[in-house]
Amino acid sequence: MSTAPSSSTAVPSSTATDAETLRRNRILSSKLYFDVPLSKVPLIYSPSYDIAFLGIEKLHPFDSSKWGRICRFLIAGGVLDNKCIVEPREATKDDLLVVHSESYLNSLKSSLTVSIIIEVPPVALLPNCLVQQKVLHPFRKQVGGSILAAKLAKERGWAINVGGGFHHCSGDKGGGFCVYADISLCIHYAFVRLHITRVMIIDLDAHQGNGHEKDFSDDRRVYILDMYNPEIYPFDYEARRYVSQKVEVVSGTATDEYLAKLDEALKVAGGKFDPELVVYNAGTDILDGDPLGRLKISPDGITRRDEKVFRFARERNIPLVMFTSGGYMKSSARVIADSIENLSKKGLIDVVGSSGKV
Ligand SMILES: [Zn+2]
Repeated sequence: MSTAPSSSTAVPSSTATDAETLRRNRILSSKLYFDVPLSKVPLIYSPSYDIAFLGIEKLHPFDSSKWGRICRFLIAGGVLDNKCIVEPREATKDDLLVVHSESYLNSLKSSLTVSIIIEVPPVALLPNCLVQQKVLHPFRKQVGGSILAAKLAKERGWAINVGGGFHHCSGDKGGGFCVYADISLCIHYAFVRLHITRVMIIDLDAHQGNGHEKDFSDDRRVYILDMYNPEIYPFDYEARRYVSQKVEVVSGTATDEYLAKLDEALKVAGGKFDPELVVYNAGTDILDGDPLGRLKISPDGITRRDEKVFRFARERNIPLVMFTSGGYMKSSARVIADSIENLSKKGLIDVVGSSGKV
């Protein structure tokens, strides 16, 4: 899509051009991109990411405070200094309108709608102000983190948002625990603010990333490599047509077979597309025992998977952002922290801030 401003001699501006101008202006006036001092590391997290209230979080079959636990493991292990973590701002309504329709955002004023999207039925009974404060505010903070991550990755080579990766949500529809389309938002901000024109999404969550697929269905600036189990949610056959490179991994696939497929997929992707930014959706619901993903990848397999993706981008000098996405077993936080520690040990990331050693 052209980003050139329309001139007075041009044909009457179309609705599409108006929408694109509005989008650009919203992105340019956003406060989500802010300068981060070098004393911080490009690891993004806020205590307000974690969802916990009235025991509701226990009703969904997952650990809704995994984000905080990942950071606590990293800090306890001496991998990360608490003072070096970057706290993002919360995405405002104007920020969200970059991708979302007004009518979709209005629909979230219904607790019933939110309860359906996040798959926690009792949330339907709560007053919406409580849902906003306890559920949507944490998500909007995570969205702010996903958007900021691209700026940090451009500056530092990499960035990890210890949250985000809501890949089932598109501009006009949420689902599968994904209320906001943070991946689409991150990429649109990168187009405008970082002047990036080619983005590769590497989506290795167990589920198909139908949200970003729909949002970038006919956008040739975005190449989507999606490796997913086709036998589970969301069965979005329309969105599957928009995947640039589809790798299906059936239920029961084990670590070695999975990693061999990934090697092959990355090789093909690297030959087909030359991105200026890699968006890595690093869901851990491929872990053996995950009731939703139904794959059989070992914790060590996750570490090796993440290392492969980081090597892919870092060796080519492509800025990389990572989102933690799905995978909410109690063991997930530990596995993610171990993988981040491995990336640090291998020199693929540096999580020690310039303020000194941890
Ligand atoms: Zn998933």
